[in-house]
Amino acid sequence: MSISKIYGNDENLQFLRIMRKNQHIPHACLFYGEKGSGRKTLAAYFAMTVLCTGEHAPCGVCGNCRKILHNTHPDFIPVEHSGKKQGFSVDTVREICRDAIVAPNDSDKKIYIFTDCDNIGIPAQNTLLKLTEEPPEHVVLLFTAVSKTAFLETMLSRMIQIAVRPCTPEDCRQALTEQHACTPADADRAIKATSGRNIGLALRFLEDSAMQEMTRQASELTQAVAQRNQYEILRILACYEKDRMQTAEFLRLLLAQFRDACMLKYGSASLTGCDRPSAEQLSQLLTAGRAFRLYEAVQNAYEALQASVSTKLVLSALGGKLLL
Ligand SMILES: [Zn+2]
Repeated sequence: MSISKIYGNDENLQFLRIMRKNQHIPHACLFYGEKGSGRKTLAAYFAMTVLCTGEHAPCGVCGNCRKILHNTHPDFIPVEHSGKKQGFSVDTVREICRDAIVAPNDSDKKIYIFTDCDNIGIPAQNTLLKLTEEPPEHVVLLFTAVSKTAFLETMLSRMIQIAVRPCTPEDCRQALTEQHACTPADADRAIKATSGRNIGLALRFLEDSAMQEMTRQASELTQAVAQRNQYEILRILACYEKDRMQTAEFLRLLLAQFRDACMLKYGSASLTGCDRPSAEQLSQLLTAGRAFRLYEAVQNAYEALQASVSTKLVLSALGGKLLL
């Protein structure tokens, strides 16, 4: 991990600095935002801010900061996923509740991090409630998730909720070239294909050829919808029938493309999709109402997939709606 600098999210960083300055450390904190937006990086930055012994926290060089950066700090504890949906089992949570009573090893706080909580489940949260309601003074619980919707209201009411914001393309370019040793040409290529508002997504685009193929197909499908090309629409959707995870990724890319087509209808320049020209083409050919219905159709397909509806069924229903 390398977090000598956080790109974007200035308001959140300022909040963390004020929190440290006033010595007002919350016992539970949720970092939520889209995958790749830097939720875990910001949570680790939070942990460094709390545990740092340097003068300007987080200094990145004191013993505590370095151990967090190298994932070896005994008081910064990642909670392992368990269960079928990669949530957290009640047994895992009970174990954390028992461990939380024990005093920290190296510092005065013990920080547990529950990452990717979108499948955390209600039994696990009910088991965690007492710890979030009456935590020992030394305990801090951090959570990351795409959205707040997986959490019970009783849990949310005890958490400080931090929305992790998209960065600017310029922040993204700097992060890629300064922190991840990308060439300026590669950084530009990734920003063009991913909109440059999500550093994790841009990195994945450069490292993962399947992701490059997916962005190409999302752009092609946008064009096929604009041209009402039934064969192309069905051909592209059929490529995703066998892999639920990839389908979810693909629908997320498509959602951004259709969102852009809607936004362009209203003259907005703030776009997040992988291919502006195809979103523009779609926008020019549709009424605002139809653009919004297409967006809704992809959103519904994504939600059905999350609710474990069969991938083939979801794509077949979506294929029909994209042709209407
Ligand atoms: Zn430090």
